[in-house]
Amino acid sequence: MKSPASLVRPSVRRLHAYTPGEQPAGRRWIKLNTNENPYPPAPRVMRRIHGVPADRLRRYPHPTAGPLRAALARMHGCEVENVMVGNGSDELLALATRAFVEPAGRPAHNPRPDDASRCLVQYFDPSYSLYPVLADIHNARKNPVKLPADFSLPSPKALEAGGKWDFRAALTFITTPHAPSGRGYGRGALEELVRLHAGVVVLDEAYADFARENALDMALHYPHVLVARTFSKAYSLCFQRIGYFVGHPELIAALDKIRDSYNVNGLGQEAALATLRHLSYYRQHFKTIVAEREKFRNALTGLGFQVFPSEANFLFAKPPGRPAEHWYHALKDRGVLVRWFRDPKVKRFLRITIGTPAEMAHCLRILRRLAASETARSSK
Ligand SMILES: *Cc1c(COP(=O)(O)O)cnc(C)c1O
Repeated sequence: MKSPASLVRPSVRRLHAYTPGEQPAGRRWIKLNTNENPYPPAPRVMRRIHGVPADRLRRYPHPTAGPLRAALARMHGCEVENVMVGNGSDELLALATRAFVEPAGRPAHNPRPDDASRCLVQYFDPSYSLYPVLADIHNARKNPVKLPADFSLPSPKALEAGGKWDFRAALTFITTPHAPSGRGYGRGALEELVRLHAGVVVLDEAYADFARENALDMALHYPHVLVARTFSKAYSLCFQRIGYFVGHPELIAALDKIRDSYNVNGLGQEAALATLRHLSYYRQHFKTIVAEREKFRNALTGLGFQVFPSEANFLFAKPPGRPAEHWYHALKDRGVLVRWFRDPKVKRFLRITIGTPAEMAHCLRILRRLAASETARSSK
């Protein structure tokens, strides 16, 4: 009898899966580790979810999420054919990898093995750590290109000079605003870059609602650009898994062909539809979160943290004194969960989601005490 592991494709056996942030149960945490919105969905969204009749659950949801796509199209001033809804934007990023990138490494099945760009998933490093996993699952080639130390968007000239960026890559993911740094990328700079690309470019705008600008119009102007949005972060619906792409109808149609027939759950469609009718509720909270972000950034700077400017609902900060890992554990021991990445490029930083003003005040009290003990330590 063969070992069960030998039944698994070697590329899957070797695969390192995506590591999600902790979702602890039990004890009441101040949870600032996965960029969730600290405010609940609008009351009317909850009523809509509660009001779904039992008889509706018995039947399949809308197979193409038609009503939700129509509402999104109206909001963005485009056609239903420009919009595709997914089980979270994560699903859409995976579908894009499968639809636009040729798997590599099987010469017999690959008519032009020399054309490496067709097998290429390209992204900045660091950015969303799901992209390399999606490439590995698909057996695609990866092209992680290092960002400058301040995580700013490199100019096309700088990318050309670097010699590593491939403007012909089959698929390029750009996280904007950038994660995990929170840096906002200007629309103009993105356009300058995107225009030079021959393959598909996905602008992953998970945090666009907290930013000054977004690039959604580029998805309607350039046939090779897709913009990814999600109801998770800004619209308090992580649990429901609703994301969407806006882009050219032919790219959308290609993705639509390869998705599961009922990829978007019914309660999620209902919740997202109700969300779009109450945007003013959410916009109030964006303002509160952005104001709190700026306040917290100033406070952190005052404590000796090095903090990047952010256009998202989180801050990326290098603590003073002992390594970030130490601070992560010290905070966790005191009931505050933040994100720390082991990756050498970012291990000097903590990523802190912006919670309610009360949560941030509590977090700050703890950080003040920790910073004071760092100061005492260093003056010994
Ligand atoms: C959270 C996040 C996503 C995934 O969002 P879902 O819609 O919940 O799948 C995608 N991209 C980035 C950069 C994110 O931070």
